[in-house]
Amino acid sequence: MKRTIAVLGGDMRQVCLARLLLEDGLDVVSWGLEQGDGPNPAPLNQALEAGLVLLPLPVCRAGNLNLPLTDTELGAEQLWPRLRYDQLLLGGMTEELSGRLMTDFGLTLLDYYDREETQIANAVPTAEGALQLAMEATDRTIHASRCLIIGYGRIGKLLARMLPALGARTAVSARRYSDLAWIEATGCRGLRTAALAGELGEFDLIFNTVPSLVLDGSRLRETKADCVILELASAPGGVDFDAARALGRRVIRAPGLPGKVAPRSAAAAIRDSVYHILEERGEPI
Ligand code: NAP
Repeated sequence: MKRTIAVLGGDMRQVCLARLLLEDGLDVVSWGLEQGDGPNPAPLNQALEAGLVLLPLPVCRAGNLNLPLTDTELGAEQLWPRLRYDQLLLGGMTEELSGRLMTDFGLTLLDYYDREETQIANAVPTAEGALQLAMEATDRTIHASRCLIIGYGRIGKLLARMLPALGARTAVSARRYSDLAWIEATGCRGLRTAALAGELGEFDLIFNTVPSLVLDGSRLRETKADCVILELASAPGGVDFDAARALGRRVIRAPGLPGKVAPRSAAAAIRDSVYHILEERGEPI
């Protein structure tokens, strides 16, 4: 017998996820997604009976289940005792919650976001969203703009393909010599992240992907007055915002781009991750 899947809360990614699972012919109910027109809405009691429960990304905000698409609040600590050990719970960015739920409630919570293939897939809408923001924030084309990408991880690598393809004069900073060799081998200018001082004055656009401080006050002072800086990294990020404000530099914080610019693609990445987890557990959907 096919098990029911409950999509419980979250943003437009979870709405799209529920729709994608339905398109795959699965038995899906949703709860807490009414403002996003979540498909097959069900009362909470019914949703909590499902064999597979898909929780939001991130699972909780301020002690409550992450429920941006409903006016209802649900304290996370009230939810856990209502679930059973024989259900499989999957959520995003579960961090230490998984261990605690197993210890305190005997619940199995696995993370559908903390997988390399999911983060690579998420880097695509993040890089595209960053380009969209850059286009909106500037009065010049990306073509012929002088761009710096700080960091050569998943997002940095994608931007290092997209920006030159649009005709940007692109430099990329990295800390590993092997990355610098790839950056140069693929036609961009390579810079060392730890040695950006003295190099920053030429850029029209800077995309930061490093989640620890790179652009401090002294480096920001070197940037052009009309340089636009996009902060893509998670907190604490790589930009000193107070220093940037004091210097009058424009910094655009851009968290959560996949869910904002391409929720359907972001949902497809989560769906694939869910299928991969089930396959690895030997539990066909
Ligand atoms: P990633 O693949 O881990 O890349 C991070 C890059 O930063 C790597 O080049 C890494 O260098 C470098 N780095 C990390 N710590 C550093 C340090 N202390 N000094 C110098 N370089 C350092 O991560 P990603 O997937 O590209 O994501 C980048 C950031 O964006 C993360 O914070 C992620 O959480 C965030 N993110 C944001 C969005 C959004 O919507 N804005 C979406 C997804 C992810 P090494 O390779 O040498 O370690």
